[in-house]
Amino acid sequence: MSLRLRLALWYGSLTTLVVALVCGYSYAVHSRTHYDEVDRVLHGVAAHVGEELAAPASRREDVLEASLLLGAGIRILGRDGLVRDQSRNGAVIPDIDLPLLLASRNVRPFSAFATIAPALHMPEDVPGHFGLLSDALGNRLRIYVEPLRDSSGYLAAIIPLSHIDHAVLAFERLMLLMSLGGGLVAFGAGWIVARRALHPVTALTNAAAAIAESRRFSERVADGQSHDELGRLADTFNQMLSSLQDTYESQVRFVAAASHELRAPLTVIQANLDLLQTASMPGEDRVTAVAEASAEASRMARLVGDLLVLARADAGIPIRRESVELDRVTIEVLGEAHHLARGHHLELAHVEPCAVWGDRDRLKQLLLNLVENAIKYTPSTGRIEVAITNREGDAMVEIRDSGVGISNEDLPHVFERFFRADPARSRDPGGSGLGLSIAQWVTAQHGGTITITSQLGQGTIVSVRLPAAG
Ligand code: ADP
Repeated sequence: MSLRLRLALWYGSLTTLVVALVCGYSYAVHSRTHYDEVDRVLHGVAAHVGEELAAPASRREDVLEASLLLGAGIRILGRDGLVRDQSRNGAVIPDIDLPLLLASRNVRPFSAFATIAPALHMPEDVPGHFGLLSDALGNRLRIYVEPLRDSSGYLAAIIPLSHIDHAVLAFERLMLLMSLGGGLVAFGAGWIVARRALHPVTALTNAAAAIAESRRFSERVADGQSHDELGRLADTFNQMLSSLQDTYESQVRFVAAASHELRAPLTVIQANLDLLQTASMPGEDRVTAVAEASAEASRMARLVGDLLVLARADAGIPIRRESVELDRVTIEVLGEAHHLARGHHLELAHVEPCAVWGDRDRLKQLLLNLVENAIKYTPSTGRIEVAITNREGDAMVEIRDSGVGISNEDLPHVFERFFRADPARSRDPGGSGLGLSIAQWVTAQHGGTITITSQLGQGTIVSVRLPAAG
């Protein structure tokens, strides 16, 4: 069921309920008031007539005639129930079953539903009985019977109810019609109002569906500049689109750059293999071609390894958590880095025992990337110093080199994937531009920070701060 239909139904049902309650109560008050008024009149007429009849000077015919002026017919019954006298209209009054009437409790002339309305005030200790009669045509009459003052019989006062019955029935139909009509009108209004209210949602849904189909994440849905819930929904949706666009574009850039990086070594390997197929190739050149192809293959293997690490990072795969002695890892890294150094002065300037909580392999990779960079971008005559210290509950690793340095323009970009500052500056531009991205990710995963300060032509200091294991 659509939201629009549900809203319209709710609106229609609630309004119908309210209208029905109001109409029902009006009907109850209306009908009860009318019938109670009849009872009051009957009681008043009977009391008056009874009093008049008891007066010694009064003539019975005159009294009975006067009752007609009060709107009620009168019938005088003997103790045996036989008619003794009656007013002029007595002939149209149906027979009265006196014993039955006196034996029964007061019969209500209105429906049980009308009892929800308050009763009209009646004099207390009414001495007689109220009842209902029906004439030959089925019309109802209200009757009130009370004993005559001299106890010689009974006095019955009667009023036809047909005109009230008709009026009450008409009123009942009107109320039913109003409840149903009100409900239908409310449903129709709810249908129109819901359409208007949901129009922005429909527009938003259509726009979102169109964007999802075309994959044009640069598009935006119209926010209508309203500050209500729908305006905020559109804003949030647009924010989501821009972050999707960023992710999508960086993904596209990443794939393009990765393919480009992989193509270069592959081309070299392919060319060298083609050369090796030439029979006339001198043995010396063959050795060089194989060595070159092998170097490119290792470079490619490293690149694929780095890409894998970043893919795992993007997938949000969590790192291991164990206590790692960072000082030992640093010493290990320096031991391995000595093979890469080409005459550099590479030394462990300062070491303090430091333990951190994290992934040993990733931490080793982080330090290796940084020390490799220092070696790569420092001439063989330069110095590289590594220090590890405990500082205010943090483990601090500092790698300081006297290499080519990084320019101020390049410095903000060095952590970007595939970013490489002018390769001409380095003696061996063999890097892929992923080392610092990985270093930054590993540091962040360990809740730490990595900072680089550098002076072009002077050297670079890379500082990694990691929370020490408590
Ligand atoms: P690469 O594999 O190219 O070294 P990185 O992400 O490790 O990739 O580094 C990005 C760029 O930052 C490098 O291309 C280099 O220009 C610069 N860089 C990194 N470390 C140093 C350093 N110690 N000295 C000078 N430049 C550096």
